[in-house]
Amino acid sequence: MEKAVFLDRDGVLCMHVFNPSTGEHEPPRDPGSVRLYPNTIRSLRKLQASGYDLFLVSNQPDFAKGKTTLASMEMVHNELDRILISNGVHFKEYYYCYHHPKGVVPEYSYECDCRKPKAFFLFKAANTFGVDLSNSWMVGDRDSDVECGKAAGTRTILIEEPTSAHKRGLSRPDHTAKSLKDAVGIITS
Ligand SMILES: [Mg+2]
Ligand SMILES: [Zn+2]
Repeated sequence: MEKAVFLDRDGVLCMHVFNPSTGEHEPPRDPGSVRLYPNTIRSLRKLQASGYDLFLVSNQPDFAKGKTTLASMEMVHNELDRILISNGVHFKEYYYCYHHPKGVVPEYSYECDCRKPKAFFLFKAANTFGVDLSNSWMVGDRDSDVECGKAAGTRTILIEEPTSAHKRGLSRPDHTAKSLKDAVGIITS
């Protein structure tokens, strides 16, 4: 059985981007806005070296909400993938949910099975790749990430990223951390 770390994307690997027109910190909307935190690559390499499979599990509802295009989201993903691979970091799979229950694009706007806090993608990884969820971790910056990990039976780490502080406070993670670097220190200790 494999052990894995399931990672949220925005606020964990990539920085949020401040949008002056909405006053909100948002996911990157174009490839040029993709910025990793200073220790992201080193932290992911450390997980790989410790024998963990890496999976991305990310809710990306902004197309469903009418805020961006599928092509833009694909370009952002491709840029992230390029940066990771060129730095020797290889995710086993990238799992994205593009849905939102209250979106404006009908085909993507419904109560789907895959949106965190649902654990759909973690169970899928367990079935597809033989991941032992009880020996695995979920790392994210929102309560929904913690709830997702708990629903799948992983251990959980909540990263207290300042720009997403309003998205947490109700969940009970196994650990909190200031950054991915700190989270990886917990996982590998
Ligand atoms: Mg996040
Ligand atoms: Zn979904």
